[in-house]
Amino acid sequence: HSKALGRNVYCFFEMSMNSNVHEQLQLVHDLSMALERNELILQYQPKFVAPSGPVVGVEALLRWQHPVRGLIPPDAFIPLAEKTGLIVPIGDWVLDTACGQLKQWHDAGRETWGMAVNLSALQFTHERLVHTVQETLARHDLAPQKLTLEITESTAMRNVEESLRILQQLNNMGVRISIDDFGTGYSSLLYLKRLPANELKIDRGFVCELAQDSEDAAIVSAIVALGKTLDLSIVAEGVETAAQQEFLTSLGCGSLQGFLLGRPVFAEQLIEALAERDASSLMV
Ligand code: C2E
Ligand code: MG
Ligand code: MG
Ligand code: MG
Repeated sequence: HSKALGRNVYCFFEMSMNSNVHEQLQLVHDLSMALERNELILQYQPKFVAPSGPVVGVEALLRWQHPVRGLIPPDAFIPLAEKTGLIVPIGDWVLDTACGQLKQWHDAGRETWGMAVNLSALQFTHERLVHTVQETLARHDLAPQKLTLEITESTAMRNVEESLRILQQLNNMGVRISIDDFGTGYSSLLYLKRLPANELKIDRGFVCELAQDSEDAAIVSAIVALGKTLDLSIVAEGVETAAQQEFLTSLGCGSLQGFLLGRPVFAEQLIEALAERDASSLMV
């Protein structure tokens, strides 16, 4: 009996592995076509001055509108895009599209808004990055200060000297740098002091239990203090409740982002979503 079970388990395992490999290959193939088939699309999520506004800018978040599988979130295909190198042309498209959209919003009267674009590790270390950023900003006639590049703390920490060199070049250009998912990557404080960054984004993991977990509250409080000392803006991501919003504001966190204040939406829905939010907060 146990032998049969073992074989069944083995067969199941092997089959699921095969289908997984097949699925991944199919996905890589589909992804390589996604750009020219216009299947990639951006949503935009606002960042607000704490506690509830105004909007300081928006973050571009990539989605893949797959013809069969529907809307695929970035975590489900960006690692694959990174492994295959497809993230480089995809990332160029994201930067170009997000900058074009920001220009449109500026022209429509939202001149104070900035745009934040996420970079994966391969994009960050790609030799053309600085040139691409410069060229894209120029083409859309945008001031570099209006663009924030978000790199995760772990990407920034992968090769400290290399990161410093790249960040210095971006900083010289005037582009803003944000360290995303901060608190998860074991930065040394000494290194952080040398980083030419403008913003730290407190990882959602610390925000989630903030009101219940005194350790998380202590960590957030320490990050806010660090931000003040090093003259960095602090953004909390993943703010879902009014309790978190209040707590973060009382700790001195400068900006907030999360489902409570605004979900990621397609460009044409953003102005409407913000207007609805303002209207409902006036009614309270
Ligand atoms: P991230 O940059 O840390 O983005 C925050 C993620 O948290 C987004 O997930 C956003 O939709 C989600 N989020 C925002 N507010 C809340 C909230 O209140 N509650 C919860 N539960 N979630 C919230 P998303 O859009 O699925 O993106 C996941 C990650 O994929 C991003 O994390 C970023 O690392 C990566 N990513 C997204 N777009 C791009 C891109 O264009 N290029 C690259 N290289 N990476 C991207
Ligand atoms: Mg981000
Ligand atoms: Mg993040
Ligand atoms: Mg994240």
